[in-house]
Amino acid sequence: MTTSNMPETQDNAEPRISNVVVVGAGPSGILLSILLAKHGIKVDLLEATETIDEQPRAAHYAPPAVYELRRAGVIDEVIERGFKPASGCWRKANGEVIVGMRFDAIPDDPERMVVLPLDRLGKLMYAHLQKLPLATVRWGHRVVNIGEEGDKAWVEAQTVTGLVKVEGDYVIGADGATSTIRRLLFGPNSFQGETLDAAIVATNVIHDFSQYGYWDTNYLVDPKNWCMVARIGRDDHLYRVSYSEVPGLTAEEYKKRQPARYKEILPGNLEPSDYTITNINPYKLQQRCAPAFRKGRFLLAADAAHVCNPFGGLGLTGGIADIGSLFDCLNGINQNLADDSILDKYAEIRRNLYVDVIDPLSRENFRRLWNQDPNKARENDDFFQTLIKAETDEELAKELTLGLNVLRHDFTQYYKKN
Ligand SMILES: Cc1cc2nc3c(=O)[nH]c(=O)nc-3n(C[C@H](O)[C@H](O)[C@H](O)COP(=O)(O)OP(=O)(O)OC[C@H]3O[C@@H](n4cnc5c(N)ncnc54)[C@H](O)[C@@H]3O)c2cc1C
Repeated sequence: MTTSNMPETQDNAEPRISNVVVVGAGPSGILLSILLAKHGIKVDLLEATETIDEQPRAAHYAPPAVYELRRAGVIDEVIERGFKPASGCWRKANGEVIVGMRFDAIPDDPERMVVLPLDRLGKLMYAHLQKLPLATVRWGHRVVNIGEEGDKAWVEAQTVTGLVKVEGDYVIGADGATSTIRRLLFGPNSFQGETLDAAIVATNVIHDFSQYGYWDTNYLVDPKNWCMVARIGRDDHLYRVSYSEVPGLTAEEYKKRQPARYKEILPGNLEPSDYTITNINPYKLQQRCAPAFRKGRFLLAADAAHVCNPFGGLGLTGGIADIGSLFDCLNGINQNLADDSILDKYAEIRRNLYVDVIDPLSRENFRRLWNQDPNKARENDDFFQTLIKAETDEELAKELTLGLNVLRHDFTQYYKKN
């Protein structure tokens, strides 16, 4: 099923795009490849590694992302393997709830937030992509060089057998936060913004936190031991625990400190024998954005274009919203419903959405966890005050669940009128 308001492919229209090269088989690159290949555009997807990444990263996908997953035809399986969380809350370090937020204020909303760990989402989407004859996936292709010639853009990828050149009408850099495409386009220090003076360790852990009265998603507000505990498994007690750490240690040092940090922060006075960690990785927290999302026939999307701290789940949700926009632009060009200038609009509008919405909102989500007195937060925090109002105001509760739809932008409105 598709909820797109874009025109269906016009069978009699001469396609304007012969192929698109997508760099990076992360969630955003795979999703874009599915959307393009399903709508008659040949895709070459190049990935540096040999398999899908399994690090503990995204798990929560807000309404704008769910909308695009639906358009790609994968949402039913995502919901089947994942789940729709009912609610989240902010707590003091002693577990006392400060305030809660419902995610089910519009229970039958088809775009309600969905949870599925990223590696499971990646594998699920890849299975869909493999069925599409117009998509070619090349694992073990690390892009190292780029250029343009005439009306084509090209990339050179390092493989075990040497350099391989692949060209296309457009090249999409979906190659993540360390994007090679971005660096080659704009220079090595072009990811503008900052690394925050904080670090987290993200763990996927099997342990039933509902026994402590924990909700689906729990944020611990505390100047030192701020933390997020969220259920991310459908029925296997798999949780994501992302806790604060001192910046600057090695991965080994963080791993060594993990049992003590769990014991200090989490309920249950936990010993390692009480839980099973399936994945652990430290992360710096960054707020960064590329100077532009387009240069010639090269475009940037998702983490290659912008990154933010993970609190509030705006990273991939914003990235997937980019992908939906980029798809509508390329599909419009292919069907002669739009000219190439629509990609300038993509670059401008999507960058503004990062600067005006994602960056400030994610910073505020993070600040809320550590930079306030937990005992006064209920009264002092404006967002908490809004949530308290929403407890008795059904319309406001609905409005809040739809708030992130501001990240969606309908690019079909720029299609040629005839
Ligand atoms: C702890 C944590 C929790 C998070 N939680 C959430 C959440 O709940 N919700 C949410 O929306 N977001 C969340 N995020 C953010 C989210 O994980 C990222 O935004 C998302 O993974 C980015 O996807 P991507 O496809 O853009 O990049 P990536 O997933 O980084 O994929 C990029 C791909 O490009 C490949 N690549 C890199 N260089 C090259 C090259 N030169 N040639 C070829 N291939 C290359 C890489 O190998 C990789 O496979 C979280 C992040 C962290 C760290």
